[in-house]
Amino acid sequence: MALSIIIVGSGPAGLAVAERIAHKAPQARIDLIDNLPVPFGLARYGLAPDRVLDKKTTAIFARALAAKSVAFWGNVALGREFDLADLRTLYDAVVVATGAGVDRQLNVPGDRLSGVWGAGAFMRWLNGDPETPSPPPLARVRNVIVVGQGSVALEIARLLARSSKELAKADLDPEVADALAAMPLKSIHVVGRNDLLASRFRPGDVADLKKLARAQAVIDPEALTHAEALADTLDRDRKTLLRAFNALAAAPRDEARLPIRFHFYLRPLRFDGAAGVERVLFTRPDRLGQNLALRGELVIAAIGLERTAAYDRLLDDRGLIAPGLYAAGWAKRGPAGSIAEIVADARQVADRVLKEAGTAPSTRPGRAGLARLLETRGAGAVSLAGWQRIDAAEKAAAAKPRPRRRLRVLNALLTTAAGPERLL
Ligand SMILES: Cc1cc2nc3c(=O)[nH]c(=O)nc-3n(C[C@H](O)[C@H](O)[C@H](O)COP(=O)(O)OP(=O)(O)OC[C@H]3O[C@@H](n4cnc5c(N)ncnc54)[C@H](O)[C@@H]3O)c2cc1C
Repeated sequence: MALSIIIVGSGPAGLAVAERIAHKAPQARIDLIDNLPVPFGLARYGLAPDRVLDKKTTAIFARALAAKSVAFWGNVALGREFDLADLRTLYDAVVVATGAGVDRQLNVPGDRLSGVWGAGAFMRWLNGDPETPSPPPLARVRNVIVVGQGSVALEIARLLARSSKELAKADLDPEVADALAAMPLKSIHVVGRNDLLASRFRPGDVADLKKLARAQAVIDPEALTHAEALADTLDRDRKTLLRAFNALAAAPRDEARLPIRFHFYLRPLRFDGAAGVERVLFTRPDRLGQNLALRGELVIAAIGLERTAAYDRLLDDRGLIAPGLYAAGWAKRGPAGSIAEIVADARQVADRVLKEAGTAPSTRPGRAGLARLLETRGAGAVSLAGWQRIDAAEKAAAAKPRPRRRLRVLNALLTTAAGPERLL
């Protein structure tokens, strides 16, 4: 019997593993499962709606789903319909590519006030994730504070700073676009706990801020002076980042434009507010007592995700949990790295799976066993054809020139996916 492999999670990592194995071992049978009825993980629910995946990555994902040896099973979850022990009995190799857990909390007083969001949850809401609850109250938001110094913090600040016209083609549902447009924004603050040179912003993203139609970046001059003093000691990447900030700072301030104010070396002390958050008190660790209060009715903590899965502790540095059991993507590396990095890494995991599986014939039931198991547990899986029906329905419902209008309710996704085919 052919080698049987199951990949849990159809985000960038799971898709890249599937594509690589399908290409290098076309005789292997690969099952790709996801707890959601739709594939793509954070490439669908995390990416900023004004970003488009590059063509190379899109092609890898498309090849994974189209491969004859790959079967997609949506709406089935590890930990709900089955556990790892079930899968290890059924398959020659199991690859866990379930991503990373939940938004990291700031853990300061008041951080549970309404209006304080994690970046992952905020992006999920923007992108129509059926499992993310009610939207933040945007109509009263005049000031936004994004806490964080990485690429996601900048993605969020840039997206919120865009005018409605700039977002006209973005992959946003009309109601989300309307909610963003209704924000009476006066300022956006991006606040980092380290100095400017320790930022993990992509220099290209910093440079691109000058193209924004209605907004202007305003950089703390003291942070720039401090960074400039170290200019001779910097590596190439840091120099590029500093150049990008200097170029933004060189433009004279236009008071008519929405400011995106960059602050550095500030740590949140406390969130204050009655019904919801109204202001955040920050402190400078080097100047005790010199606190800074910023007004903010929406605070987004873009400080990374937290790994929550029990198998995290079992990983070795090449993604092996136990013989025949592997991890890939953020489930392997923790919540850091772009899609391109994750895809490259996942392909190495795929190579390792194939190498260690060898060429001996398989004795495991694989897909037939999975189908039986799902039947006994009453799970209604969504097939590739089911996802294609969702995809077609979302594209047909798009308010042009937007690419799609997302089905935001789990039941609507499942109803739209329903069809006559059987998964086996
Ligand atoms: C807010 C945000 C914005 C980002 N923006 C960018 C960007 O602009 N550009 C970029 O290159 N990268 C970006 N990234 C990073 C990128 O999203 C990750 O590199 C990538 O998605 C990680 O891929 P993954 O497959 O490991 O995890 P994920 O994308 O999280 O995929 C995991 C999949 O596993 C499924 N799953 C989870 N648990 C189970 C279970 N128990 N059973 C079955 N299935 C399960 C999930 O539904 C999901 O489909 C961003 C990340 C975040 C959080």
